[in-house]
Amino acid sequence: MTEANPYEMALAQYDRAVKYLPLKRGIEEFLRAPKRELTVNFPVRMDDRSVKIFTGYRVHHSTARGPTKGGIRYHPGVTLDEVRALAMWMTWKCAVLSLPFGGAKGGVVCDPKRLSLQELENLTRRYATEISVLMSPEGDIPAPDLNTTPQIMAWIMDTYSMHRGYPVPAVVTGKPVPVGGSLGRAEATGRGVMVATREALAQLGLPLQGARVAVQGFGNVGSVSAGLLHAAGARIVAVSDSRGGTLNPQGLDPRALVRHKRESGRLDDYPGGEPITNEGLLVSDCDVLIPAALEQQITAATAERVRARLVVEGANGPTTPEADAILAARGVLVVPDILANAGGVVVSYFEWVQDLQAFFWSEEEINERLERLMVRAFGEVGATARDRGVDLRTAALIRAIERVAEAIMILGIYP
Ligand code: NAD
Repeated sequence: MTEANPYEMALAQYDRAVKYLPLKRGIEEFLRAPKRELTVNFPVRMDDRSVKIFTGYRVHHSTARGPTKGGIRYHPGVTLDEVRALAMWMTWKCAVLSLPFGGAKGGVVCDPKRLSLQELENLTRRYATEISVLMSPEGDIPAPDLNTTPQIMAWIMDTYSMHRGYPVPAVVTGKPVPVGGSLGRAEATGRGVMVATREALAQLGLPLQGARVAVQGFGNVGSVSAGLLHAAGARIVAVSDSRGGTLNPQGLDPRALVRHKRESGRLDDYPGGEPITNEGLLVSDCDVLIPAALEQQITAATAERVRARLVVEGANGPTTPEADAILAARGVLVVPDILANAGGVVVSYFEWVQDLQAFFWSEEEINERLERLMVRAFGEVGATARDRGVDLRTAALIRAIERVAEAIMILGIYP
């Protein structure tokens, strides 16, 4: 059941963690469901002048700790339940990192690979208009996710600004730097994954130098994670995208892979490695496995065959609860998504603060603050895991749920 539906998966994780908390029943129930959900059906003018109707969503899970924050995803498989799960995970992620945000997520059911640039812009501007009833710099601040880029964020900002009559850069993060984006944002999630991998390897007593790393998904998160880990001395032995991947036990050069993917559009024909399937990558011979594509990639069947000692979740929800239990029983350490991939929302927070103040920081300062927040959160979650005798996911959820529940208690019930 949970293998099929990300929202059921998020609820199963939540139910497991709340057992460790003395939560009031009302709060436990309140946090199980999103605060509000918006479904929009809207027309887009296509290049051939025909009109196509698209469906999109924006879900706010919790506003207890601040305005909601969360990415927008463009994918043919987007469902309301997927967006609900991702919004809930955003609430926990922001709370684990002590950011003053609640969680949200958005998505449009579409295949961006089949849209021209003009169609993508039309779709984005109309979707931004449709969700502007929920979106604002004070209330809900979107960001990039699967298949959404800094350019798409710029169109969202520009559309919102046109309606207001003045520029509102703080309405969205992950924008290009010339229009109010933050230095370091594009690499932030991958940088956070690198820090989480380094900390987790240290916990296992394994050196990062020479650690063999396999990365599933070679988009923003996967390619930057691979590049930074390679630069830090790890050996990237396999990478893949939606069409398959490439394997070389001697090591791959992520920069050459980025160039190759840009030129050929795929990775499985990379001349410096052997072709590998996505399933093959997940069970390949490596020390660290970084799923950085979609949710529910490591299922019970896969978990039995994972050879890595460490799984660092670059993607959101890549491991099912059944797989989690199997990996734990097999002694594989899993750094959960709400900690491992939080670097993106941390620097999104920095971007929002810089936009509101119209005062911008250096990249050095941003990377240093990101590093500090990630290391602190990793230490706190590790300490909770040891104190309570639980895995890192449950520990991260315990800390997050405690923080959100505390805010709800302080705010009370209106009226
Ligand atoms: P992206 O669109 O830049 O890249 C996604 C990559 O995954 C692409 O290389 C694509 O080919 C690959 N992919 C798609 N389907 C696949 C499949 N079935 N098997 C293997 N590879 C597949 O997206 P992204 O921003 O890198 O996001 C990746 C994951 O990281 C998502 O789960 C997203 O929610 C999560 N995430 C992203 C950010 C961010 O800042 N971008 C932050 C936190 C978490």
